[in-house]
Formats: sequence, C-alpha cells, structure tokens
Amino acid sequence: MSAAATSHVSRIPFPHRPSTDPKARRDVLTGWGRYPLAECDLYRPEKLAELQAIIARNSASLIPRGAGRAYGDAALNDQNRVVNLARLNRMLAFDAGTGVLRAEAGVTIAEIIDVFMPRGFFPPVTPGTRFVTLGGSLAADVHGKNHHRASSLAAHVTNLDLMLASGEIRRCSREENADLFRATVGGMGLTGIILELELKLKPIPSAWIEGELIRTANLDQAFDAFERADKQYDYSVAWIDCAGGRSRLGRCAINAGNFAERKALWPRAAQEPYRIAPRFPLAVPFDLPALALNSFTVNGFNAFYYAMNRPALHRFFDWRWFFYPLDSIRNWNRIYGRRGFVQYQCVWPLAESRAGLIETLEAISRSRRGSPLTVLKKFGEQDGLLSFPMPGYTLAVDFPVADGLFEFLDELDQMVLKRGGRVYLAKDARMRPEVLRAMYTNLSRWQSIKAKADPENRFSSSLSRRLGIDPE
Ligand SMILES: Cc1cc2nc3c(=O)[nH]c(=O)nc-3n(C[C@H](O)[C@H](O)[C@H](O)COP(=O)(O)OP(=O)(O)OC[C@H]3O[C@@H](n4cnc5c(N)ncnc54)[C@H](O)[C@@H]3O)c2cc1C
Repeated sequence: MSAAATSHVSRIPFPHRPSTDPKARRDVLTGWGRYPLAECDLYRPEKLAELQAIIARNSASLIPRGAGRAYGDAALNDQNRVVNLARLNRMLAFDAGTGVLRAEAGVTIAEIIDVFMPRGFFPPVTPGTRFVTLGGSLAADVHGKNHHRASSLAAHVTNLDLMLASGEIRRCSREENADLFRATVGGMGLTGIILELELKLKPIPSAWIEGELIRTANLDQAFDAFERADKQYDYSVAWIDCAGGRSRLGRCAINAGNFAERKALWPRAAQEPYRIAPRFPLAVPFDLPALALNSFTVNGFNAFYYAMNRPALHRFFDWRWFFYPLDSIRNWNRIYGRRGFVQYQCVWPLAESRAGLIETLEAISRSRRGSPLTVLKKFGEQDGLLSFPMPGYTLAVDFPVADGLFEFLDELDQMVLKRGGRVYLAKDARMRPEVLRAMYTNLSRWQSIKAKADPENRFSSSLSRRLGIDPE
C-alpha cells in the first residue's frame, strides 16, 4: 500500500447504510489496532438455530468474530457479513478430575479465570489479554508466555465442533476429521465456525506467580538470561528497548516465573491462595493526539521503564500484573491516536534469531517509528498448518499508522523472510500476498483442505482477500 493510501485512512466517510437483511446491523468495525475500518453486516446470534439460519440465508461471504482483539482485518469482512459469536458463551461441562472443560466458542479467557481460578485451574495457554474468546483464540492458535514449554492453545484442545458452510456440524480432533482440525486451528475462521471445544485446564497451586525480574544491558545478556529463565520457569517474557540504537541494543526487563506453591506464600495468602484483592482498571478516555508518541516520549518511557524494573529474586507477582499488564488500562489502544496502529509481530528460527533481532531492532531504531510496548518471547515446538509460532524468538512492536509506515514494514518483511521467519496473521493489517505465500509454506496444503470443507468459499474475510488466502 502506498503512503498516500495510508494517509487517508482515518478520513474514509462511512454512510452507515441500513442493512438489507433485517436480522443484521450495518456497522463499521475495526480490529484492536483500529486500522483498517470496514463496513459490514453484523449478526449476533444467541442460538444455534439462528446461526444455522444466518449461514443458510444468503450466499454472501461470512466471517466469524469473537471479541475483536485481533489487531488488523482478520475478523472484518468489508461490504460483507460478520457473525459475532460472543452470545454463544455457555460453559457446558467440567471434569474436576481431569481439568477438561467443554465450552462454547464465545466464552472468554477472563470468564474461565473468574470461574476456575478459585477452584485451582488456569487456562493452559493465554495471550497477553484475557478479553478474547475461545473461538477467536483457537482460530489464531494463540501462544502465551509459556510457549517454550506448552506450545500453543491447540496443543491443549482435544476436539472442537465446527459448523461448515453447508450448516453441517462436524466434530474434529487429531483422530476424527484430523485434516480439518489442523486447518481450523490457526485457520483464522476460514474453514467454518467453531461452535464449542474441549480444553484441558492447568491445575495451579495458587493465584500468585513466584519468579524474578531480570534486567539485561545488551543482547548477549538478554539471550543468556532467556535461556536460563526458560529452563527454570514455565513463563517468561521481556520488554525490550527498541528505540535506543546500538549502545542500548538488547536492553531488556525479563519477567519469569511459575505459579507459586502454597507453602511458599506468606501466611495470609496461604490461607486463601486463589484470592487476590480486586483492582480498579484505569481508562484512556479519548484518542490521544498523534504527536503524543514521538521519539522523545518513547525514549523517555523506555528509560523510565528500565529504571523502574529493578532486578529482584523470588518476587511474588499478582497474576493480573504478570499475565495481563495492559488489561488494567481500558481502551489503551487510543494512545496511538485516531489513525490507529498496527502491531508487527514476527518470529525467526532459533539459529537466525540473534542476527534477525539485531537487524530488525537497528532498523526500527533508525526509523524512529517504534513504540514503547515492544515485547520479546521465546517459542518452542509447534504443530499446525497456518499456526504462527516456530522454535525461535518472536518480537512484537506497535507502530502508529503514519505516512510511509507500510513501505517500512515491507522492508522488515524482507528481513524476516530471508531468514526463514514469518509474520503473525492475527496482528497483521498490511502484509503482501506474495510475502505470505513465501512465509507460510503449508498454505497450499491448507487451501486444499479448505476447498473441500468450503467449496464455494463462503468463509472469507478482509484479511483472506487482501492476502489471497482464499483458494482460487
Ligand atoms: C493486548 C493484546 C495482547 C495480545 N497478546 C497475544 C499473545 O500474547 N499471543 C497471541 O497469540 N495473541 C495475542 N493477541 C492477539 C489475540 O489473542 C488474537 O487475535 C485472538 O485471535 C483474539 O481473539 P478474539 O476472540 O478477540 O477473536 P477476533 O479478533 O474476533 O477474531 C480473530 C480470528 O478468529 C476468528 N474467529 C473468531 N471466533 C471464531 C469462531 N467461533 N470460529 C472460527 N473462527 C473464529 C476470526 O474470524 C478471526 O480470524 C493479543 C491481542 C491483544 C489486543
């Protein structure tokens, strides 16, 4: 996309035409990055029969949507239909002996934590926000801070029920309709609608995380610290300074830890190990002006954050602070201003991670475009056809939408591609189709499974058309 195209984004006039379908509402939707905008017919069914009727009613393309936390256009379907699954959100069965939960796709990770943390269970994998649905999380095959040990969400799902374009419901697992299972996890809603799934929750001894905060001054230290932390801890994640240039390259604050054993807690906490006093969220009440984030404020924030995070051994962390620091600020996506932002998340194979990270951080630092919210994680083993992770390091950086941004991100794509890495679809809003094909080498296999499950290509999204994912 050209700079001119990126610059007029926020000014697209939307007429809010009434929908031609009385059951749908014409709405302007975005992902979490608030870029791009799409005018769609939005359905919010409450019952399975309603959903079946929506699918059967007309042949216009359709894409499922969960909580809308994908950053770009994965859950958008410009001038077409979007079906929000948020109201199909019942928890159906739970076996406390095995930790297996059966739930509808609209149940959120936050709801699972609310119900099951007091009983000593936690989602086996969780992204950096808990305000996502199970369906959306499985469709993106999300990863958490424990990927190096636990892989992605799909590894903990025993089966799922998928509604196909024909309205037929098919149970899929590694044993039954195995191809469809593999194409649906990470398949970004393009094989059908996940109705319900069975997920094995993780037993936890308390709601506290016991771990450490490690500060590193350069990349060698950062990689050493990650290797050590990953051997010792289930969870690890680093904030990394992406604005500092050569002298500060690799300046990180790494948080690592495990759920704390009850006996390690102080007496009051040990008495009620799953109870932590509620906190009241802050909120960003309006869009900040675009100038609020510039190289001075980003540098200032990074220096402040690094200074604040003093290394400490065996600290106890509140689970909300450890897993979901951004969830405590409602609408934080407004800090990037009205034009929105894109999050660029890439991964390099292990052997290329160091060189890839240096090259990319240097380019970002030179560009003066990066934001303070830059995260580094290590991935472990991964299965799946379109799933994003691979063993190696992953970097996620927010970029406010601005003139020339997409050309710059095209350059980053080439750096990632030449090292055998890839970019995450759940965060993407601008990648080019030829880059996607080169990065996702299982795409043609996935397309042949999709073509069998959805021969008329009824499930399609703004993302799938932009990237040419839909089979020809
Ligand atoms: C602050 C923040 C932090 C994040 N951190 C991480 C992270 O650490 N790791 C990570 O992997 N991701 C992360 N993400 C991305 C997020 O987890 C994924 O985009 C996830 O898919 C969002 O789920 P959702 O319910 O909001 O789905 P949506 O955004 O609504 O949809 C996402 C995709 O799922 C499909 N979909 C939704 N529901 C269904 C269904 N029932 N059946 C079939 N397909 C469906 C949609 O078509 C779309 O393609 C983060 C996002 C935010 C905002």
